[in-house]
Amino acid sequence: AKALKRNTWMFFAPELAAASRERFTMDTGLRRALDRQELVLHYQPQARVDGSRVFGAEALVRWTTPEGEVIGPGRFIALAEEAGLIHTIGRWVLGEACRQAREWELAGLPLRVAVNLSGLQVVQGDIVGDVREALEQSGLSPSRLELEITEGFVIGHADEGLERLNGLRRLGIELAVDDFGTGYSSLSYLKRLPVQCLKIDRSFITDVPGDPDDETIVAAILSIADRLGLDVIAEGVENATQLDFLRSLGCPAYQGDYLSPPLTAAEFTERWGAGGLA
Ligand code: C2E
Ligand code: CA
Ligand code: CA
Ligand code: CA
Repeated sequence: AKALKRNTWMFFAPELAAASRERFTMDTGLRRALDRQELVLHYQPQARVDGSRVFGAEALVRWTTPEGEVIGPGRFIALAEEAGLIHTIGRWVLGEACRQAREWELAGLPLRVAVNLSGLQVVQGDIVGDVREALEQSGLSPSRLELEITEGFVIGHADEGLERLNGLRRLGIELAVDDFGTGYSSLSYLKRLPVQCLKIDRSFITDVPGDPDDETIVAAILSIADRLGLDVIAEGVENATQLDFLRSLGCPAYQGDYLSPPLTAAEFTERWGAGGLA
């Protein structure tokens, strides 16, 4: 057992060093990225299942390094949260998404833009002030902004976060629960929270139709949402079979690579700008 332990250590040590080196590089790199405007938002369209009418876009942040490498949020959001950079990044994302949505609005492309919030932005910072400022600076009407909060966060911080979420609602924006279905079993929080929309997590969409458990879960979420008067968006729809299944269950809206992967603002405008949103 001793020998095994030593081997394990020898095997992991270089990896740990590399991991902490990457952390250090990412941390300093991220700070610089903010100054040098290396962050960019991509937009994934959201559509109604009937006729694929695009009504919204989810803003997804990316980091383009000076070397030209595009780093996805999965690799730096958690680090930004640990390093205390999430507030600055979050404010930038809010400001840029609102600015872009206003530009689209003025160009005759009236989309609702959805922005992902880190739970830390809701519990630590002045999220209501930040959102109010982004709306004022851009001139965007609040009904064109939706904020996504994860189910895990909602359950963990329902009490502290509730007043802030109510404050956001009073600004006139919409709130969505992201990754819905991946949290715990108690759904009572849905009654207490001022949310308007549930986003069904991609993990439940991947194997439908076909996987009986996932089919049941998707149907159950749709039924709960319907009874509570909530809107639903299914995430990660990758093919026509999944879309047909969702349509047959009465799911109102979806997003995913089948409709379009996330696009730059310019690509988005080119694809949906000229001929309207249909
Ligand atoms: P999310 O909010 O669940 O976003 C959906 C993710 O699924 C995105 O990954 C999107 O590119 C990807 N996706 C969309 N359609 C499909 C599909 O059909 N198939 C597959 N396999 N994937 C699809 P992305 O852009 O890498 O973002 C990952 C996560 O990072 C997001 O998950 C969100 O939690 C977080 N994130 C993104 N932007 C922001 C941000 O501005 N602020 C914060 N706090 N978090 C962000
Ligand atoms: Ca999201
Ligand atoms: Ca999600
Ligand atoms: Ca997710």
